[in-house]
Amino acid sequence: MKLEHIGIAIRNSADSEKIFAELLGSDSYKSENVESEGVKTTFFNVGESKIELLQALDPQSPVAKFIEKRGEGIHHLAFEVEDIDFELNRLEELGYQLIHRTPKDGADNKRIAFLHPKSTNGVLIELCQEKT
Ligand code: ZN
Repeated sequence: MKLEHIGIAIRNSADSEKIFAELLGSDSYKSENVESEGVKTTFFNVGESKIELLQALDPQSPVAKFIEKRGEGIHHLAFEVEDIDFELNRLEELGYQLIHRTPKDGADNKRIAFLHPKSTNGVLIELCQEKT
């Protein structure tokens, strides 16, 4: 596995895009809405990994609820895997709680699935696999 990206929950994409563009010295390379999650995603390259800014598109979105409860900040870590179905089975057999047993379409041309933070020390984990 490699750390593919770090997801950061934000309230206002214009403000946050400015902060990360200044911080990293380069603009975002892509913005994409993921309707199934109710979020706008904006990506920045950081070496071999990425920063994914997550802004809620509606108040029912999981990101909106996250910000309501915990404020803006780090939302999840995403690990890239070669075979997401295999990894989900492997982790489920080891007793990890899956939020998605079947991968779904995510941003950036990926199939994604989340593990419940209850079984991962309070850290929301995303597994992702590049679509071929
Ligand atoms: Zn993500």
